[in-house]
Amino acid sequence: MFKRDFHIISPEDNLMIQTSSTTQPAWFSGRSLFIATKHKKEIAIADQVVKALSLNTFQVADIDTDLLGTFSGEVERRDDPLTTLRKKCEMAAQLAPEDLVIATEGSFGPHPAFFMLSGHEELMMFLDKKNNLEIVVKEITSQTNFNGRTVNNLEDLQHFLDVILFPSHGIIMKASKDNLNDLKKGIHDPKEMREHYDLLMSKYGEVYIETDMRAMHNPSRMKVIQELTSKLIDRITTSCPQCQTPGYGIISANPGLPCELCGTATASLLSYTYGCKKCGFTHDEKYPNGKKYEEAMYCNSCNP
Ligand SMILES: [Zn+2]
Ligand SMILES: [Zn+2]
Repeated sequence: MFKRDFHIISPEDNLMIQTSSTTQPAWFSGRSLFIATKHKKEIAIADQVVKALSLNTFQVADIDTDLLGTFSGEVERRDDPLTTLRKKCEMAAQLAPEDLVIATEGSFGPHPAFFMLSGHEELMMFLDKKNNLEIVVKEITSQTNFNGRTVNNLEDLQHFLDVILFPSHGIIMKASKDNLNDLKKGIHDPKEMREHYDLLMSKYGEVYIETDMRAMHNPSRMKVIQELTSKLIDRITTSCPQCQTPGYGIISANPGLPCELCGTATASLLSYTYGCKKCGFTHDEKYPNGKKYEEAMYCNSCNP
């Protein structure tokens, strides 16, 4: 992984850092940042980025990102997450072509690696139209309360609320999973929750209740966005050893760690390839987990 060797760049530092791989601040310093969000993500993003890149200021872009899809089902997301994210950034960049843009796109569902766990994937994009630069970082985590179910009694309701960390985390209530009637989002108030539960029960005999995954209603997601912001800053402030373009970083994870007994290449991680999107320069770093051999129990030859 990246070494956390970036530091806040002050004008006095400029000369000192020319020789390191840290990005020369000329690319970004004094410029402004647009954050494309309707859901208060600037809380997790703005301060860190403004400091790290010596920016002038930030602004929340007044664009309706819900047009590209909502979690609660009113608008289906039509594109894959990366395309959706790129569209968000482009919408913001049209308003201020001179400025830097940051947006994120969250996806939730079964965790790709751990059976029975929910997973949260968050993509974050940094777009600098002026320098034709696009940098994307990603986080996949099981640290999410993503959940939804039908309830028709107070015991099940309370159990669900406890599991998903209500009221610090908001909820959505509606008639049924696919029936958006009487949909109410962003509920944190226990009294409001109970009143809406009673209303839905009286009309439909059951209630579909789910976690509200919008950042300002979900501190777990906000935390992931904050961590992803540091990852983005690491990436932005790492420049290509060959052409000095910012955004040099991991472009692929390569399996093939040799078995400790027979030397056969296993499926475990052998190296990361770092690359530059601008000039195509790459280099490999072997043994990122500090292990030079894999245990024989994971080897398909020794332990088929
Ligand atoms: Zn390069
Ligand atoms: Zn083996």
